[in-house]
Amino acid sequence: MRVLKFGGTSVGSAEKIQQVAEIIKDGVPKIVVLSAMSGTTNYLVEIVKLLYSVKNDEAVNKINYLKEQYKTVVNELYSIEEFKIKGQELLNQHFDYMISFTRDLFTVYEERALLAQGELLSSAFLFYYLQEQGVNTALIPALNYMRIDKSLEPDEFYIKQNLLREIEAHPGVELFVTQGYICRDAYGEIDNLKRGGSDYSASLVGAAIGADEIQIWTDISGFHNNDPRYVKKTHSIKELSFDEAAELAYFGAKILHPSSVLPAKNANIPVRLKNTMKPEDEGTLITDKIIQGEIKAVAAKDGITAVKIKSGRMLLAYGFLRQVFEIFERYRTPIDMITTSEIAVSVTIDDSTNLKDILTDLKKYALVEVDENQTIICVVGNFLADEKGIILKVIDALKDIPIRMISYGGSVHNISLLINTTDKISALNILNDNLFKY
Ligand code: ADP
Ligand code: ASP
Ligand code: MG
Repeated sequence: MRVLKFGGTSVGSAEKIQQVAEIIKDGVPKIVVLSAMSGTTNYLVEIVKLLYSVKNDEAVNKINYLKEQYKTVVNELYSIEEFKIKGQELLNQHFDYMISFTRDLFTVYEERALLAQGELLSSAFLFYYLQEQGVNTALIPALNYMRIDKSLEPDEFYIKQNLLREIEAHPGVELFVTQGYICRDAYGEIDNLKRGGSDYSASLVGAAIGADEIQIWTDISGFHNNDPRYVKKTHSIKELSFDEAAELAYFGAKILHPSSVLPAKNANIPVRLKNTMKPEDEGTLITDKIIQGEIKAVAAKDGITAVKIKSGRMLLAYGFLRQVFEIFERYRTPIDMITTSEIAVSVTIDDSTNLKDILTDLKKYALVEVDENQTIICVVGNFLADEKGIILKVIDALKDIPIRMISYGGSVHNISLLINTTDKISALNILNDNLFKY
C-alpha cells in the first residue's frame, strides 16, 4: 500500500481536486492524505485572531465570505445534483459550526477545532467526488486515529492500532481518503501537527501501515538545490538520503515539514516528492542510499535568535555547560547551533517564546548578549573527511557577508552558518553561483 499526500495548492480549486482524482485512480492500493485548500488555513488563522480580539462581527463576515468561495467550488466540482446537494449540506454543517464560535468567548479548544475545518472540508470534497465517479473508496477520519501524547509527540502505538482498525472496517476498499494536519491531543481534544503538518501526517500514516512508499505531491518537481522563492536558477535533485532531507527540512526547506522525514527513515520507507501539475516529472526520491562527497542543496531558516553566554572564570569549570543546557531544557527550548571559545559559548534558538525567562536564569551565572533577526544558512551533502574543498568553497563564496557563527563537523551532512537575515537572499544566491554546476 502507498501513501500519497497532496498539499494545499494541489487541491486549491475544483479543477485541481479533479486532477488529484485522476492521479489516484490508477488501481494501486493507497491512502490519500489531504491538506486544506490553499489559503484556507491562513484564512482560518485570521478568523482566530479576530475572535481572540473579540471582533466577532468581522469574524462572522470572514466566515461568510469563505463559505461563498466554497459554494463556488461545490458547484464546479460536482455535476450530479445529488452530489451538489451533499456538498452544500456539508458546507452548511461546517460553517454553522464555525459561526457558533462567534457567539461566546473564544477558547483555545475552539481555535483548534476551527483550524481543523480546512482539512475536514477538502477531504470530504474529494471523497464525494470519487463517489460521484463511481470509485470504491472510504473516508477515514484522522480524528479517529491520529494522536499526540502529553509531550506533544505522536503516539505511534495508538496511531497504528486505530488506523488499522479504520482500514479493516472497509473490506474490499483499496482507496482511502484522510485528513493531514489534524489530530487529537492526549486528552482526546482536537489538535494539530503545526503549520505544514500534513507532510508529517503522511509520514506517520506510512510508518503505521508499513507503506511501500510515501509520496508528497506538491507544486514543484521535487526537492530543489536551493530555495526557489529567493533564487532563480535552481534545479531539482534526483536522490537524497533521509539524513540530508531531514537536515534541509529542519533548516528551512519549506517543501517538507521539519519532522516529516524521521518516521519514514525509522521505518525505512522511501519518500518520493512529485509535482501534481507535472506528474510525468521524475521528482526526488529520498531513501537510505548515501552518495558521497557531493554538495546537494542549500536552505535557510529565519527567525533565529543568537544568545552569547560569557563567563571568564566559570566556563572552563566542568558543569558550566550543563548548567547552561539545563536552563534551555527547563523552558523546553531546543538549541540549533552551538559554538564555544575559552570564555564564551554561543547558541541559537528558533523558539523565543521563553527567551525572557531563559535570559533571567542565564544572567545568574554569566554575561549575556542577544542578537535577533538572524538566519541559519545550511549547506547539505555528504562531506567526506578528505573533501577539504567544500568548507573552503563555502567560506570563500561568502567572503563579503558577515558570518556570526559557523558549525562544521557536527555531522557529515551539514555546514551551518549564522548571518543577519538582511543578508539571506544574497547569501543564497552567491552560494548558488559558486557551489553548483549548471
Ligand atoms: P504544499 O502546500 O504542497 O505543502 P508547500 O508550499 O508547503 O506546499 O511547499 C512547496 C514549496 O516549498 C514550493 O512551492 C517552494 O516554493 C518551497 N520550497 C522551499 N525550499 C524548497 C526546496 N529546496 N525545494 C523545493 N521547494 C522548496
Ligand atoms: N493546512 C495546514 C497548513 O496550511 C497543513 C498543511 O498544509 O500541511 O499549515
Ligand atoms: Mg507544505
